Amino acid sequence: MTDQRTTVLGYPRIGPDRELKKAVEAYWAGRLDAAGLEQAGRELRERTWSELRDAGLSDIPSNTFSFYDQMLDTSVMVGAVPARFAELDGLDRYFAMARGAQGTAPLEMTKWFDTNYHYLVPEVGPQTRFRLTWDKPLAEYGQARELGIETRPVLVGPLTYLLLAKSADPAFAPLRLLDDLLDVYAELLERLATAGVTEVQLDEPALAADRSAEELKALARAYEHLGGLSHRPRLLVATYFGEIGAALPVLAATRVEAVGLDFVAGPGNLAAVASTPGMAAKSVVAGVVNGRNVWRTELPAALSTCAALLGLAGEVVISTSCSLMHVPLDVERETAVPEGLAFARQKVAEVVAIGRAMREGPGAVVPAVPVRAPVDGRMRARLEALGEGTARAAHAERAVIQRASLGLPPLPTTTIGSFPQTDAVRRARADLREGRTDRAGYEAAMRAEIDSVIALQEDIGLDVLVHGEPERNDMVQYFAEQLDGYAATEHGWVQSYGTRCVRPPILFGDVARPEPMTVGWAVYAQSRTGRPVKGMLTGPVTMLAWSFVREDQPLSETARQVALALRDEIRDLEAAGIRIIQVDEPALRELLPLRAAGHAAYLAWAVAAFRLATSGVSDSTQIHTHMCYSEFGEIIGAIGDLDADVTSVEAARSGMELLEDLRAAGYTRGIGPGVYDIHSPRVPETGEIERALRLAVRAVEPERLWVNPDCGLKTRGYAETEASLRNMVAAARKVRAL
Ligand code: GLN
Ligand code: ZN
Repeated sequence: MTDQRTTVLGYPRIGPDRELKKAVEAYWAGRLDAAGLEQAGRELRERTWSELRDAGLSDIPSNTFSFYDQMLDTSVMVGAVPARFAELDGLDRYFAMARGAQGTAPLEMTKWFDTNYHYLVPEVGPQTRFRLTWDKPLAEYGQARELGIETRPVLVGPLTYLLLAKSADPAFAPLRLLDDLLDVYAELLERLATAGVTEVQLDEPALAADRSAEELKALARAYEHLGGLSHRPRLLVATYFGEIGAALPVLAATRVEAVGLDFVAGPGNLAAVASTPGMAAKSVVAGVVNGRNVWRTELPAALSTCAALLGLAGEVVISTSCSLMHVPLDVERETAVPEGLAFARQKVAEVVAIGRAMREGPGAVVPAVPVRAPVDGRMRARLEALGEGTARAAHAERAVIQRASLGLPPLPTTTIGSFPQTDAVRRARADLREGRTDRAGYEAAMRAEIDSVIALQEDIGLDVLVHGEPERNDMVQYFAEQLDGYAATEHGWVQSYGTRCVRPPILFGDVARPEPMTVGWAVYAQSRTGRPVKGMLTGPVTMLAWSFVREDQPLSETARQVALALRDEIRDLEAAGIRIIQVDEPALRELLPLRAAGHAAYLAWAVAAFRLATSGVSDSTQIHTHMCYSEFGEIIGAIGDLDADVTSVEAARSGMELLEDLRAAGYTRGIGPGVYDIHSPRVPETGEIERALRLAVRAVEPERLWVNPDCGLKTRGYAETEASLRNMVAAARKVRAL
């Protein structure tokens, strides 16, 4: 074996210091012109390609760059531009589709499979006419070629593109547009071949989820068509985020030359290759280095997977499990992170090392010295003794006790937790961080903010108050910073969507709570009012979903550790006189496995963790939870299983339909369907909210119904927040009076 090919499926594009964000935002602000923005893009791409070449990869991807999102790029490239953007063109149109323009709504945004990256949802319909209208993949390939770097352009695969697209008319399935779209892909592939491209990567992550027989037929049609073109590059169909399942024999029967398989999220892919006729004639691009997490690869294990594949496939190319855009760029820049981490640059080096070992033998990889995660024996012993927690009385019984002890009116009004984060609040946090103010000065500023938030809520007439979360930068990071077992990075930025980047905390060891995290603020807020103040925590699943989590034990076990820390916090809140405690789980649906076969096991541990966290209190303490979506889909049955007394959810944009869904799923507890949308500054009229509440009262007994906005208010301004909440309280009073 002489030539061992190595590659990655994609690479971070934001730049080491978020240069992409800075350039795009400068362009939006008018501080950078279009030429300047293009130049910034060219420099970022050049840097990436030369870095990957210098690291020793044999195969380098291109067209992994984007000014905003690769799905948006694809929509523009194939001419899937909704009519409302027809007046615009070029970058104006591109960014209007991403962010909206005066009076024009942007494309909808949603999560990219089970990652924390968000893409822009293509809008298609019977009127869509695909046409190749942007030569971005050719242009990027050309730029790299001028630098002397041969690349493999990466495209969103046609099947995944259409499966993620949505049509305004629910009767129109986007997949009906497949043949039209294939014509555009065929034209593009021919042009790429003419330009000298030898291989193209078509990303089909949709194949890691359950696919119907009809969808598999569409897959066959797509790749028979593209594979049958006489003048085209080699085709690599890249799947990732799980097992390829029934799609493998379909692809193996086409003329596609290479299939990318994720051996990290899809360990069963090895057996699938072994049992699929035709794979001996294909290249397998073996994703053995995890593109979704930040730990070093067990090189010997990865190497043995690749070695096993050698006997099964025509060729093995060493690769990452998915694009590296989901991990930060370089761990070498960090000064305070635990041992044993690998970010994108280090992962590329691992791919190269595995490639070398494939040529030179296993002696060429040095097994990493195992890094043992810090263990907290006391916490582990307590968890073992606790088992599932303690059973509280049945919800119906608790509801009676709570009604008597809280003395709230019917249709109680409340908010989801955060109040607007003013410049003054952000400045106070920054001043503390950068040493311009001491702890005492900071606490005084936060207390002043809490005073004014409490006074405002009393004046508005809300029934259950919150402290407003001024001390929280982010609902996960705030807790991660206070828990043992979590580390923060200085430069570990990951793209969340467009120019928005996040620095997920790293959960590397046993989690424990050295001291109370929220009690001081909650108690202070409660001391300023006679009305109940809700304690506010982030739930165990969300704490995991928005972090990089250790892999040396099952997620379920780590979730229990987080839950125990929260359980202690909740008991401390209760002991300090807080009678209502909300545990937010906006990410409960996000960690749901892509395939239905994994749903029950996931929901079992997710629900158990929530219950472990929340079952340590007396029956008179009311537990709330909050989720930011209105369509629960497969998790609807789990909402009642959480055993929270009250659940608040997003509902304003979708009417009150979910109340029916919840009833059908047997949900009988308190429910706060969001009565207005907090995602825009628009102030809802009292009449509008009243109508929503009347609808809700028809579906839910008034004693179960709560009145609240869709989500937290931290991204809003005070003017619209105050006006909206006043209207909300007025509407609740009107409906109560009926
Ligand atoms: N309590 C949080 C807030 O109000 C909830 C945020 C969320 O649901 N994403 O900001
Ligand atoms: Zn929310």
